[in-house]
This record gives sequence, structure tokens and C-alpha cells, in this order.
Amino acid sequence: MPTFRPLFLIPALAALFLTFFLPGPVAAQGFRGGVTIEPGESCPAGTTEIRPLTCLAPEFEAPSIVDYRPRSTLVTRETPTPRARFPVVDLHGHARGLANPGVMDEMVAHLDALNIQVYIAADNVSGEALRRTLDAVAASPHRDRFRVMTGIDFRGVGPGWADRAVRQLEEDIAAGAVGVGEISKSFGLTIQKPDGSRLRIDDPELDPVWEAAGRLGIPVFIHTAEPLAFFQPLDLANERWLELAIFPDRRNHGPGHVTFEELMEERDALFRRHPETTFVAAHFGWHANDLAWAARLLDEFPNVHLEVGAVLHELGRQPRAAREFFIRYQDRVLFGKDSFQPGEYPYFWRVFETDDEYFDYYRDYHAFWKLYGMNLPDEVLRKLYFENALRLMPELPREGFPR
Ligand SMILES: [Zn+2]
Repeated sequence: MPTFRPLFLIPALAALFLTFFLPGPVAAQGFRGGVTIEPGESCPAGTTEIRPLTCLAPEFEAPSIVDYRPRSTLVTRETPTPRARFPVVDLHGHARGLANPGVMDEMVAHLDALNIQVYIAADNVSGEALRRTLDAVAASPHRDRFRVMTGIDFRGVGPGWADRAVRQLEEDIAAGAVGVGEISKSFGLTIQKPDGSRLRIDDPELDPVWEAAGRLGIPVFIHTAEPLAFFQPLDLANERWLELAIFPDRRNHGPGHVTFEELMEERDALFRRHPETTFVAAHFGWHANDLAWAARLLDEFPNVHLEVGAVLHELGRQPRAAREFFIRYQDRVLFGKDSFQPGEYPYFWRVFETDDEYFDYYRDYHAFWKLYGMNLPDEVLRKLYFENALRLMPELPREGFPR
């Protein structure tokens, strides 16, 4: 039975309320220990605004953000998503121990449960070590479930480097690698040339390698920079305060650090100079928090694709805009997870496939907020999960994917 609500009473009650409780500074007198502030000011540390321009400290000592874990009382639909709706290519895998006995068996049990058909180890490994992994995959009963990318060794960039790097790349691809990557974030952030200067992402000495990747028809999977918040001051307004406080090596703010904008400019210059090379920008190019920027990137560079690893919390907090983006750029998005934690994949399926609302994400230090489902149409899901990857990497096994 619907409840009858005398809605017409609400404005009258509001007027009554305002008469008694405004203005704010006066109201402060009614609260023990209340502090009044001026318009435009924010409440002093340890207090919160309880009425306009009135701040009050809680009676009990406030818990730290590490310990505050409120349980939602929202009662709403929950759609279990243990398995992806379509078979998945995980382009952003890390599995350095893949060649060790038993590792593939153990992983396949998880991949089967999650409906991941092909797992790509993007460990930036080249030469002998790559060959060992390729051989182990080829000899395995799971040979259709794993593929491996090769890497680039940026040490010693100078005369002769490019020739060696191109030769190695050609050998690795001939041996069965399906792409180049993951080019690590340290490329641009910290890797140096022999003279001690920072190796720029668009350094012309590297051009022959990117050209070779284009000629060989393989994608370059490249991680550039870090989330924007990592380049901002570590203060209480920083969205990733907790993560930055935990991991010192993620702090990129301050004198001597290359800026987010510089890295983006260098990356874009690289994309611009090699239109015949296909690039996959890991982690959505770190633009999942600014989809207009992501759209400009894809509009300007038809050779660029975006991968969704470790940005689910950005997509899931703007499900409507993200849905629109994925529909519009459905040929340009690829699935990747980054670290292999079987329990975390279902959060991705839930965001992409359902229209569930206000549900938990798996890691507080990425996001203190809840996620919402994007409810992607099936044809977009298919492209995101496997069709785009199969198009970019024709060497991937076809078994296990719907036609
Ligand atoms: Zn990675």
C-alpha cells in the first residue's frame, strides 16, 4: 500500500524551521562547542558543518579514514556476476612465473570460472626469458589460453641501440610474441639515458622500434604516467591520499618531478609521429576521470586504443557518461585487469554488464566511493571483452570465442 504523504505541508514546515534556526551564526549558540565561520571559509580541522556556517566536532574521537567502513543500509537489487557474459581476452596480464610447473593449471581453473578465454602475459620480457615462457605455453595442454608479449630494454639508448632493439623485436615476434608490452610507467618517469638525462617518451632515437612494431603489425601496449592525483600535493584534498601515504614510490609531486602534462605531451607526440603503429594506452591513458580528454585523444589518434585496467572506480562512479563513451568508442576499448586477483574480476563484470547501483569496490585506497553499473549493450561488451583484441592481434587463438 502506498503511504499517503501530505506533501503540501513540507514548504510550510520548512518556513517554520528556517524562522527558528537561521541565520547560522545564531544557531551556533544552540550547540555546545559550535564554531561559526565566515562565508567562503571551511570548517576547522576536526569539525564538520552541521548548519550553514556552523561547525561542530563529534562527541567521540573520530576514527581514521583507514578504519571508517560504514555498512550501507540501502536495499537494492544485487546481480551476482561471477562469470563474464562473453569469453574475455585479458590483455593486461602479469604472470612472470607462467613457465613454472603447475602455474598454468592453477590459473586455468580461475580463468574457466571467470570466463577468461585468453590471458596475455604483458611482462615486458624479451629474448631468452621470453622464449622459455613461449616454449612452456606451446608444450602445455593450455596452449590456447595464454599468450605473451615481448618487451623493450631501454637501457643504453644511444648509437647502435635502435638496431639491436629492432633485431630483438623481430626475433621475439617471430618466436610467437603477440605484441610489445607492457611498456612500463618508468618509461617517461624515471628511465635515464646514459648521460643521466631523463629518457623522453618521444625521444627520436627510439623511432625505429616504434616503426618496426607498425611494420610487424603488432600493438604496442604502453603505460604512461600515473593517476593525476599522484602528481598533486599529498594533502587532505587529494583523492588518493591513502594510497600515496602507503606507497612512497607513487608520489610524483614536487620539484624535480616530471609533470602529468609533460608526460601526456610526450606520449601524444609519440602517437602523432607513428600513425602506422597501433598503440594501446594502459589504464585508459589515465583519462578515465576525464572522459572528454579520453575522447579528444581517440579523436586525434585513430591508431590509439584504451585499456581499462585499474580504472574501474573511475568508470563506475560515472556510469551514464561512461556508458555513452563506450558505445561511441566501442571499437577502441579493450579489457585488461593488471594484477591477477581472481576475486577482483567480478567487480569488472558487474560494472560493465549490470545496472546495479551503489555497490562496493574492492580497494579503499583507490576509491572511497561506491560503484554503479554501466549496463553495456551486448555488442559493446563483445567488442570490449574479445572482438577488439582479436582484431588487433590476429595471432590470438580463435577457439572458445563465439562467431
Ligand atoms: Zn601492468
